[in-house]
Amino acid sequence: MLWSGWGDPAKAADLPEPVRELLHDLLGVRAPATPAAALSEVRLPPPALPGSALARLTGAVGAEHVRTGDETRIRHTRGKSTPDLLRIRAGDGSDAPDAVVLPGSHEEVLQVLRACAEERVAVVPFGGGTSVVGGLAAARDGFAGVIALDLARLAGLRSLDAESMVAEFGPGTRAPEAERLLAGHGLTLGHFPQSFEYATLGGFAAARSSGQASAGYGRFDDLVAGLTVATPRGTLELGRAPKSAAGPDLRQLVLGSEGAFGVITSLRLRVRRAPAEKVYEGWRFASFAAGSAALRALAQQGPLPAVLRLSDETETMVGLAKPGEIGAGEPGCLVIAGFEGADVRARREAAGAVLAGHGGVALGEEPGRAWAHGRFAAPYLRDSLLAVGATVETLETAGFWSNLPRLYDAVRLTLHAELGSPLVMCHISHVYETGASLYFTVVTAQSGDPVEQWERAKTAVSAAIVAAGGTISHHHGVGRDHRDAYAEEIGPLGVEILRAVKDRLDPAGVLNPGALVP
Ligand SMILES: Cc1cc2nc3c(=O)[nH]c(=O)nc-3n(C[C@H](O)[C@H](O)[C@H](O)COP(=O)(O)OP(=O)(O)OC[C@H]3O[C@@H](n4cnc5c(N)ncnc54)[C@H](O)[C@@H]3O)c2cc1C
Repeated sequence: MLWSGWGDPAKAADLPEPVRELLHDLLGVRAPATPAAALSEVRLPPPALPGSALARLTGAVGAEHVRTGDETRIRHTRGKSTPDLLRIRAGDGSDAPDAVVLPGSHEEVLQVLRACAEERVAVVPFGGGTSVVGGLAAARDGFAGVIALDLARLAGLRSLDAESMVAEFGPGTRAPEAERLLAGHGLTLGHFPQSFEYATLGGFAAARSSGQASAGYGRFDDLVAGLTVATPRGTLELGRAPKSAAGPDLRQLVLGSEGAFGVITSLRLRVRRAPAEKVYEGWRFASFAAGSAALRALAQQGPLPAVLRLSDETETMVGLAKPGEIGAGEPGCLVIAGFEGADVRARREAAGAVLAGHGGVALGEEPGRAWAHGRFAAPYLRDSLLAVGATVETLETAGFWSNLPRLYDAVRLTLHAELGSPLVMCHISHVYETGASLYFTVVTAQSGDPVEQWERAKTAVSAAIVAAGGTISHHHGVGRDHRDAYAEEIGPLGVEILRAVKDRLDPAGVLNPGALVP
């Protein structure tokens, strides 16, 4: 993973000159005044861990698994949101942990947590490091130091109950590795978020991730049958049956808890047969409203494709949705419908009848193939845009069908009011019987202080989402960036409950301070 950007450096691409010219002409994008810092230029706080804490950590996991080198610290600094990238590209390493600790077992995690609670050292669980909500930058104040607890050594397929279709994994297993291990048994999780290449299973659970095929396989939290969690107070074992009436489901307290209540050290996950066939196709609708009505019909009446996404007019036009495939110059909105499994033909025909019945025009498989081919490419494009002086960032929400148009307008209007004339694109890619998520991509010319510029816009848009009745996050989570809006969403009593749980599980407050809990 590139320390200052996304993904495999070999896949990075410079923007072609005509695209740069277009960005300049349309959005006023100009080259940044200062080039991005080199790794050696990143400014780090001096390591602050007391000797006693370092000795206990070394005793718990072994000296070779406690790392304090500059590069390791930089690679565990914050996550991969655009402000995170802008800060590290500017050489700001102020959120770096003092040490990176790699436990090798559940017991070692318990020992580390105990030591950190007694030494008042903050602990940030670290999976793939792809958080986009400030979930990896601990608030240092009042702590003797900060460690990143990298879960990379707790990885792999631990057991498979083929009869129940449940697989047990270590939390540090990266998604491609999980798929590779399951493929050997003809199985899949079916979880393919855009961060698929780097994110981990523990991170998916901790942040309630949702993948591109959520219509077919469900969100990640739907896949979690059981969890083992290490806390400073001991171990939680959760989930002993597929469903239970034994009180409130405590798994739900851990899902989305973003390392603030404990460290997930094991996951029992529902698996599916790997699909025999996959067919993705494109449809064109006259407008976002017409496309939304068609998606709602599929969500409410079926049959639901595994992948179902609708780009608005701007996203379709700009080409994130491959507009060439839907006819140059023709207005409209692109739908991608992806069918996976054994009975692809029948479900494709039945879904096609619903889409056509709502005014959709079939475009064949080519747009679907193009989408599938480029589905993990956008984060690389973000790096190229940042380098030429454009800020590009995403944000998301969800709401009931009846409220989606209001939410859509509120977000767009606010972004335009805050950023002048940005490019704002939107798509729906996670649908439910009762509603859907809206996922926005924003491109704007960088100001002299692009972090402040984005944070101002983000604060305004978060307030607009809350005021328009949406949730502050459908799948990115809360972290530090959404904490205040989350507090408004759940109200004062909800905040008290969160604090009570935190106090009971983590009395010293060392687990990911500043994240999630208002
Ligand atoms: C380019 C890009 C595309 C993305 N696309 C999607 C998408 O399509 N869908 C989606 O849902 N999200 C997406 N995300 C967001 C992100 O990938 C998800 O939130 C993912 O779940 C994070 O997984 P991770 O392993 O990287 O976790 P990290 O970023 O390492 O951690 C996320 C949070 O969980 C905590 N945590 C991590 N592991 C554990 C553990 N074992 N126990 C307790 N706490 C833990 C961390 O402390 C942190 O607060 C995207 C991010 C990027 C940068």
